[in-house]
Amino acid sequence: MNIRSMKKRILDLLFPQHLKCHCCDREAIVNSYGICKECEDALLFSADAGSIEGIDGYTAGLQYNKPAKRAMWSFKYHGALYKKEFLIRYIEIPREWTVDCLVPVPLHIDRQRRRGYNQSTVLANAIAERDGLTVREDLLERVRNTPQQAHLNQKERQKNVRNAFRASPDCSGLCVALVDDMRTTGATLRECALALKKSGASKVYAITACCSMEEIDYSE
Ligand SMILES: [Zn+2]
Repeated sequence: MNIRSMKKRILDLLFPQHLKCHCCDREAIVNSYGICKECEDALLFSADAGSIEGIDGYTAGLQYNKPAKRAMWSFKYHGALYKKEFLIRYIEIPREWTVDCLVPVPLHIDRQRRRGYNQSTVLANAIAERDGLTVREDLLERVRNTPQQAHLNQKERQKNVRNAFRASPDCSGLCVALVDDMRTTGATLRECALALKKSGASKVYAITACCSMEEIDYSE
């Protein structure tokens, strides 16, 4: 292999998406994590993501504005799983947390079969690999298939997910960090935490790739 083709091979390994921006999907000059300048400038970080009732600590990567929304949409609904590294890039687990394991927010088995993957598990695995943590999918299951929450307000969301999760007694005494793609009202995370604590988890933290306190318009 000559130097030129070796260089190309290395670049291909580093930028497998052939310089397509992870957010806007345009061919562009992208930075080391696959984002064009325009999108990079528009990204907003969730430095202070606020708190969620019933959760011992909460952190998020990005605010759910236009570029983050575009990346998340293709990751979640169109199988663009390679965007996981970008989506977890801004997540920093606070030093004061003692995390025994990461627990992805489960999808109902029917929805997971239709989609082919659980986006939260993909994110949890990527964080675990990066930070040297373990993922436990056996500690929490979704026992009720709840309708999509996109058009529900906070009260309706809380009602929608009530008793939707069941935790295994194996979580007893553990400090777990829930992982989800998105936080809107926090209703789903709160319900997961309730189930885990009922089964004896000693602490429940939550990590989401994106954070939006507003109602989401999925029509775009
Ligand atoms: Zn872009």
